[in-house]
Amino acid sequence: MSFPIRVWNIVFLVGFITYCGIRGVFKRRTEGNEKIVRRLDALEKTLLVTVGVGSLLLPVLYLLTHWLAFADYHLPEFAPWFGVLLMAPALWLFYRSHADLGLNWSVTLELRKGHQVVKQGVYRWIRHPMYASILLWDLAQGLLLQNWLAGWGALATFAVLYIVRTPREEQMMCEFFGEEYRDYMRETGQLCPSLRFKKRT
Ligand code: SAH
Repeated sequence: MSFPIRVWNIVFLVGFITYCGIRGVFKRRTEGNEKIVRRLDALEKTLLVTVGVGSLLLPVLYLLTHWLAFADYHLPEFAPWFGVLLMAPALWLFYRSHADLGLNWSVTLELRKGHQVVKQGVYRWIRHPMYASILLWDLAQGLLLQNWLAGWGALATFAVLYIVRTPREEQMMCEFFGEEYRDYMRETGQLCPSLRFKKRT
């Protein structure tokens, strides 16, 4: 079944509002939790701004103005359906990873007072479920919005953040949690469960 582009834009918008709502709720919950380590250097700031442009500014401009019309294109009919299929697990994993990380969550490289290594819930299987959910979401965005910039800008910018930030984040966790985090790394995969996974007792 084929729908006009604006139907897929509305589907995206509903998911986007849900996505921002989940982030907003957990951001408010962690606000009062003191930070003891903050590694927000120039590289991290640049990555955050770039991801903000790809994930927020470009889709909003695309949905509300005609400024990005020069980058419009047509996806095959099945593509947005795949996008919808990806949205549901992406939103679920985005919610679950925030809930499991609880007060330990930060938008950047930070550690909070009383910070603990979370190894339960979705963190039992993979170390970066939140990043996995964002990559899935960005893929859904690309399959729903029929515009090169608004569709794929999020995936392109977040992929760079993921590649640059993940080793820095893992290094920070190793520095502060030592063997506990190194053991955890051995037992889990980054984005997919590790084949070497052994059941923790
Ligand atoms: N990379 C994780 C978390 C993203 S939020 C994911 O994709 O799910 C980023 C912050 O989470 C980091 O600054 C770090 O303080 C914290 N963090 C990452 N992994 C953690 C873990 N297993 N337990 C506790 N905090 C963690």
